[in-house]
Amino acid sequence: MKLELGKKCLLEHFEFKVDRSSKTRYEVSCMGDGCEWRFKAYAIPGGSLFFVKHMNDRHTCSKTQTHPHFRQANPKVLGQFLKEQLKDSGRIYRAKEIVKDFRQRFEVEITNLQAWCGKSHALELLQGTTRDSFAKLPIYCYNLKLANPGSVTHILVDEQGRFEMVFVALGVAIRSFMFNLRPFVIITAAHLKGEFKGTLFLAVGMDGNNQILPIAYGIGKSEDGESWTWFLSKLRDCVGEKANMAIISDRANSIHVGVRNVFPRVYHGLCCRHLMMNLRLLSSKKSVRGTMVEDM
Ligand SMILES: [Zn+2]
Repeated sequence: MKLELGKKCLLEHFEFKVDRSSKTRYEVSCMGDGCEWRFKAYAIPGGSLFFVKHMNDRHTCSKTQTHPHFRQANPKVLGQFLKEQLKDSGRIYRAKEIVKDFRQRFEVEITNLQAWCGKSHALELLQGTTRDSFAKLPIYCYNLKLANPGSVTHILVDEQGRFEMVFVALGVAIRSFMFNLRPFVIITAAHLKGEFKGTLFLAVGMDGNNQILPIAYGIGKSEDGESWTWFLSKLRDCVGEKANMAIISDRANSIHVGVRNVFPRVYHGLCCRHLMMNLRLLSSKKSVRGTMVEDM
Protein backbone atom coordinates (compact mmCIF):
# COMPACT_ATOMS: atom_id res chain seq x y z
CA MET A 1 0.00 0.00 0.00
CA LYS A 2 2.83 2.39 0.92
CA LEU A 3 4.59 1.43 -2.30
CA GLU A 4 1.50 2.17 -4.41
CA LEU A 5 1.05 5.52 -2.68
CA GLY A 6 4.70 6.36 -3.34
CA LYS A 7 4.31 5.49 -7.03
CA LYS A 8 1.16 7.63 -7.24
CA CYS A 9 3.10 10.59 -5.77
CA LEU A 10 5.83 10.30 -8.37
CA LEU A 11 3.40 9.97 -11.27
CA GLU A 12 1.09 12.79 -10.10
CA HIS A 13 3.80 15.15 -8.76
CA PHE A 14 2.85 15.66 -5.16
CA GLU A 15 4.23 14.75 -1.78
CA PHE A 16 2.36 13.57 1.30
CA LYS A 17 3.06 13.67 4.99
CA VAL A 18 2.15 10.90 7.40
CA ASP A 19 -0.43 12.05 9.94
CA ARG A 20 -0.86 8.75 11.71
CA SER A 21 0.96 5.44 11.35
CA SER A 22 0.43 2.41 13.55
CA LYS A 23 -0.17 -1.31 13.17
CA THR A 24 -3.89 -0.63 12.69
CA ARG A 25 -4.02 2.79 10.97
CA TYR A 26 -2.27 4.66 8.20
CA GLU A 27 -3.35 8.22 7.47
CA VAL A 28 -1.61 10.65 5.13
CA SER A 29 -2.34 14.06 3.64
CA CYS A 30 -0.89 16.23 0.87
CA MET A 31 2.06 18.46 1.76
CA GLY A 32 0.55 21.36 -0.22
CA ASP A 33 -0.54 24.32 1.94
CA GLY A 34 -4.16 23.73 3.02
CA CYS A 35 -4.62 20.97 0.42
CA GLU A 36 -7.58 18.67 0.99
CA TRP A 37 -6.08 15.49 -0.49
CA ARG A 38 -6.42 12.76 2.16
CA PHE A 39 -5.89 9.02 2.40
CA LYS A 40 -6.90 6.84 5.34
CA ALA A 41 -6.54 3.08 5.64
CA TYR A 42 -7.23 0.63 8.46
CA ALA A 43 -5.95 -2.86 9.13
CA ILE A 44 -8.28 -5.79 8.63
CA PRO A 45 -8.20 -7.61 12.00
CA GLY A 46 -6.38 -10.94 12.03
CA GLY A 47 -4.39 -10.41 8.83
CA SER A 48 -1.73 -8.30 7.17
CA LEU A 49 -4.14 -6.52 4.81
CA PHE A 50 -5.32 -2.89 5.01
CA PHE A 51 -8.49 -1.50 3.51
CA VAL A 52 -8.96 2.08 2.28
CA LYS A 53 -11.54 3.69 4.53
CA HIS A 54 -11.45 7.18 3.08
CA MET A 55 -9.78 8.87 0.17
CA ASN A 56 -10.20 12.40 -1.16
CA ASP A 57 -8.24 12.29 -4.40
CA ARG A 58 -8.81 15.97 -5.27
CA HIS A 59 -5.96 18.38 -4.76
CA THR A 60 -6.71 21.99 -3.88
CA CYS A 61 -2.99 22.75 -4.08
CA SER A 62 -1.07 23.41 -7.28
CA LYS A 63 0.69 19.99 -7.08
CA THR A 64 3.71 21.55 -8.75
CA GLN A 65 5.50 22.63 -5.59
CA THR A 66 7.59 19.53 -5.10
CA HIS A 67 10.67 20.05 -3.00
CA PRO A 68 14.22 18.94 -3.62
CA HIS A 69 14.94 15.53 -2.01
CA PHE A 70 11.44 14.44 -3.05
CA ARG A 71 10.32 12.64 0.09
CA GLN A 72 8.31 9.82 -1.46
CA ALA A 73 11.26 8.86 -3.66
CA ASN A 74 12.44 6.26 -1.16
CA PRO A 75 14.52 3.25 -2.29
CA LYS A 76 11.50 0.93 -2.47
CA VAL A 77 9.48 3.27 -4.72
CA LEU A 78 12.44 4.20 -6.92
CA GLY A 79 13.46 0.53 -7.10
CA GLN A 80 10.09 -0.33 -8.69
CA PHE A 81 10.72 2.17 -11.51
CA LEU A 82 14.40 1.40 -11.95
CA LYS A 83 13.87 -2.37 -12.06
CA GLU A 84 12.72 -2.22 -15.68
CA GLN A 85 15.71 -0.15 -16.81
CA LEU A 86 18.17 -2.44 -15.05
CA LYS A 87 16.75 -5.69 -16.44
CA ASP A 88 19.39 -5.53 -19.14
CA SER A 89 22.24 -6.66 -16.91
CA GLY A 90 24.92 -5.07 -19.09
CA ARG A 91 23.61 -1.56 -18.48
CA ILE A 92 25.62 0.86 -16.35
CA TYR A 93 22.97 3.23 -15.05
CA ARG A 94 24.73 5.94 -13.07
CA ALA A 95 23.12 7.96 -10.27
CA LYS A 96 23.50 11.17 -12.27
CA GLU A 97 21.62 9.65 -15.24
CA ILE A 98 18.86 8.43 -12.89
CA VAL A 99 18.47 11.94 -11.41
CA LYS A 100 18.25 13.38 -14.93
CA ASP A 101 15.74 10.74 -16.09
CA PHE A 102 13.51 11.30 -13.07
CA ARG A 103 13.60 15.05 -13.72
CA GLN A 104 12.47 14.47 -17.32
CA ARG A 105 10.02 11.66 -16.70
CA PHE A 106 8.33 12.69 -13.43
CA GLU A 107 9.43 16.32 -13.08
CA VAL A 108 10.76 15.65 -9.60
CA GLU A 109 14.16 16.40 -8.13
CA ILE A 110 15.88 13.52 -6.37
CA THR A 111 19.41 13.50 -4.97
CA ASN A 112 22.30 11.33 -6.14
CA LEU A 113 22.03 9.41 -2.87
CA GLN A 114 18.31 8.69 -3.40
CA ALA A 115 19.12 7.51 -6.93
CA TRP A 116 21.93 5.27 -5.70
CA CYS A 117 19.79 3.75 -2.91
CA GLY A 118 16.94 3.17 -5.40
CA LYS A 119 19.28 1.48 -7.83
CA SER A 120 20.68 -0.77 -5.07
CA HIS A 121 17.14 -1.78 -4.15
CA ALA A 122 16.21 -2.44 -7.79
CA LEU A 123 19.28 -4.66 -8.23
CA GLU A 124 18.30 -6.52 -5.07
CA LEU A 125 14.79 -7.09 -6.48
CA LEU A 126 16.29 -8.46 -9.71
CA GLN A 127 19.28 -10.40 -8.43
CA GLY A 128 18.63 -11.02 -4.72
CA THR A 129 20.93 -9.75 -1.96
CA THR A 130 24.70 -10.11 -1.81
CA ARG A 131 24.21 -12.46 1.13
CA ASP A 132 21.93 -14.69 -0.98
CA SER A 133 24.60 -14.76 -3.70
CA PHE A 134 27.32 -15.90 -1.31
CA ALA A 135 24.98 -18.58 0.06
CA LYS A 136 24.43 -19.85 -3.50
CA LEU A 137 28.15 -20.07 -4.28
CA PRO A 138 28.48 -23.87 -3.70
CA ILE A 139 25.51 -24.69 -5.96
CA TYR A 140 26.81 -22.19 -8.55
CA CYS A 141 30.22 -23.89 -8.60
CA TYR A 142 28.57 -27.32 -8.83
CA ASN A 143 26.47 -26.28 -11.84
CA LEU A 144 29.38 -24.48 -13.46
CA LYS A 145 31.34 -27.76 -13.47
CA LEU A 146 28.34 -29.69 -14.81
CA ALA A 147 27.92 -27.27 -17.72
CA ASN A 148 31.64 -26.80 -18.44
CA PRO A 149 33.52 -30.12 -18.41
CA GLY A 150 37.03 -29.94 -17.00
CA SER A 151 36.32 -26.83 -14.91
CA VAL A 152 37.91 -26.53 -11.49
CA THR A 153 36.37 -24.68 -8.53
CA HIS A 154 37.38 -24.46 -4.88
CA ILE A 155 35.76 -22.69 -1.94
CA LEU A 156 37.85 -22.01 1.16
CA VAL A 157 35.98 -21.52 4.46
CA ASP A 158 37.19 -20.91 8.02
CA GLU A 159 36.56 -23.19 11.06
CA GLN A 160 33.07 -21.74 11.47
CA GLY A 161 32.23 -22.44 7.82
CA ARG A 162 32.41 -18.76 6.83
CA PHE A 163 33.55 -17.75 3.38
CA GLU A 164 37.26 -17.02 2.89
CA MET A 165 38.04 -17.48 -0.80
CA VAL A 166 36.77 -18.95 -4.06
CA PHE A 167 38.74 -20.13 -7.07
CA VAL A 168 37.23 -20.70 -10.54
CA ALA A 169 38.91 -21.93 -13.72
CA LEU A 170 36.75 -22.90 -16.69
CA GLY A 171 37.71 -26.14 -18.44
CA VAL A 172 37.98 -24.50 -21.85
CA ALA A 173 40.33 -21.82 -20.44
CA ILE A 174 42.57 -24.44 -18.80
CA ARG A 175 42.77 -26.44 -22.04
CA SER A 176 43.46 -23.29 -24.09
CA PHE A 177 46.34 -22.33 -21.84
CA MET A 178 47.78 -25.84 -21.84
CA PHE A 179 47.67 -26.37 -25.60
CA ASN A 180 47.38 -23.01 -27.38
CA LEU A 181 48.73 -20.13 -25.35
CA ARG A 182 52.26 -18.90 -24.78
CA PRO A 183 53.66 -20.18 -21.45
CA PHE A 184 53.20 -17.03 -19.46
CA VAL A 185 50.58 -15.91 -17.00
CA ILE A 186 49.73 -12.35 -16.04
CA ILE A 187 48.36 -12.04 -12.52
CA THR A 188 46.74 -9.10 -10.80
CA ALA A 189 44.23 -8.17 -8.13
CA ALA A 190 41.50 -5.54 -8.01
CA HIS A 191 39.46 -4.18 -5.12
CA LEU A 192 35.76 -4.95 -5.22
CA LYS A 193 32.94 -2.58 -4.33
CA GLY A 194 29.64 -3.59 -2.77
CA GLU A 195 28.48 -4.69 0.67
CA PHE A 196 31.35 -7.05 1.50
CA LYS A 197 34.15 -5.41 -0.48
CA GLY A 198 36.91 -8.05 -0.99
CA THR A 199 39.48 -8.56 -3.71
CA LEU A 200 39.27 -10.09 -7.16
CA PHE A 201 42.25 -12.26 -8.11
CA LEU A 202 42.88 -12.77 -11.78
CA ALA A 203 45.22 -14.89 -13.91
CA VAL A 204 45.15 -14.32 -17.68
CA GLY A 205 47.11 -15.60 -20.63
CA MET A 206 47.75 -14.26 -24.13
CA ASP A 207 47.38 -16.02 -27.43
CA GLY A 208 49.50 -15.63 -30.57
CA ASN A 209 47.51 -12.54 -31.59
CA ASN A 210 48.10 -10.86 -28.20
CA GLN A 211 44.46 -11.43 -27.27
CA ILE A 212 43.85 -11.80 -23.54
CA LEU A 213 42.21 -14.97 -22.26
CA PRO A 214 41.21 -15.25 -18.59
CA ILE A 215 42.53 -18.54 -17.20
CA ALA A 216 41.28 -18.34 -13.62
CA TYR A 217 39.70 -15.90 -11.21
CA GLY A 218 39.09 -15.84 -7.51
CA ILE A 219 37.56 -13.71 -4.80
CA GLY A 220 39.05 -13.29 -1.37
CA LYS A 221 38.93 -10.93 1.58
CA SER A 222 42.15 -9.07 0.90
CA GLU A 223 45.32 -9.18 -1.14
CA ASP A 224 48.02 -10.72 1.06
CA GLY A 225 50.72 -13.37 0.70
CA GLU A 226 48.48 -16.08 2.11
CA SER A 227 45.64 -15.36 -0.35
CA TRP A 228 47.99 -15.27 -3.33
CA THR A 229 49.63 -18.53 -2.18
CA TRP A 230 46.22 -20.25 -2.00
CA PHE A 231 45.07 -18.86 -5.36
CA LEU A 232 48.32 -19.71 -7.16
CA SER A 233 48.48 -23.21 -5.66
CA LYS A 234 45.00 -23.91 -7.09
CA LEU A 235 46.17 -22.50 -10.43
CA ARG A 236 49.24 -24.76 -10.37
CA ASP A 237 46.97 -27.76 -9.71
CA CYS A 238 45.12 -26.85 -12.96
CA VAL A 239 47.94 -25.96 -15.34
CA GLY A 240 51.10 -27.26 -13.67
CA GLU A 241 54.43 -25.74 -14.60
CA LYS A 242 54.98 -25.37 -18.34
CA ALA A 243 58.47 -25.32 -19.82
CA ASN A 244 59.96 -21.77 -19.93
CA MET A 245 56.97 -20.50 -18.00
CA ALA A 246 56.90 -16.88 -16.81
CA ILE A 247 54.62 -14.94 -14.49
CA ILE A 248 54.12 -11.20 -14.93
CA SER A 249 52.66 -8.94 -12.24
CA ASP A 250 52.92 -5.56 -10.55
CA ARG A 251 55.34 -5.07 -7.65
CA ALA A 252 52.92 -6.03 -4.85
CA ASN A 253 54.87 -7.78 -2.12
CA SER A 254 52.00 -10.23 -1.55
CA ILE A 255 52.31 -11.47 -5.16
CA HIS A 256 56.05 -11.89 -4.72
CA VAL A 257 55.41 -14.05 -1.63
CA GLY A 258 52.78 -16.14 -3.43
CA VAL A 259 54.91 -16.75 -6.53
CA ARG A 260 57.95 -17.70 -4.45
CA ASN A 261 55.85 -20.14 -2.38
CA VAL A 262 54.07 -21.81 -5.30
CA PHE A 263 56.22 -21.34 -8.41
CA PRO A 264 59.77 -21.06 -7.03
CA ARG A 265 61.41 -22.11 -10.32
CA VAL A 266 59.24 -19.96 -12.59
CA TYR A 267 60.57 -16.64 -13.91
CA HIS A 268 58.75 -13.75 -12.24
CA GLY A 269 58.83 -10.50 -14.26
CA LEU A 270 57.32 -7.10 -13.75
CA CYS A 271 54.63 -5.46 -15.83
CA CYS A 272 56.29 -2.52 -17.65
CA ARG A 273 53.18 -0.41 -17.47
CA HIS A 274 52.86 -0.78 -13.70
CA LEU A 275 56.58 -0.08 -13.35
CA MET A 276 56.24 3.05 -15.47
CA MET A 277 53.34 4.28 -13.30
CA ASN A 278 55.34 3.51 -10.14
CA LEU A 279 58.30 5.48 -11.47
CA ARG A 280 56.04 8.40 -12.36
CA LEU A 281 54.71 8.33 -8.82
CA LEU A 282 58.29 8.24 -7.50
CA SER A 283 59.22 11.22 -9.59
CA SER A 284 56.25 13.12 -8.19
CA LYS A 285 57.53 12.15 -4.70
CA LYS A 286 54.53 10.04 -3.79
CA SER A 287 54.72 6.67 -2.02
CA VAL A 288 55.24 3.54 -4.09
CA ARG A 289 53.36 0.34 -3.41
CA GLY A 290 55.26 -2.83 -2.40
CA THR A 291 58.95 -3.53 -2.51
CA MET A 292 61.28 -4.29 -5.39
CA VAL A 293 61.14 -7.79 -6.78
CA GLU A 294 64.46 -9.60 -7.02
CA ASP A 295 63.82 -10.75 -10.58
CA MET A 296 63.87 -7.18 -11.81
ZN1 LIG B 1 -2.27 18.64 -2.88
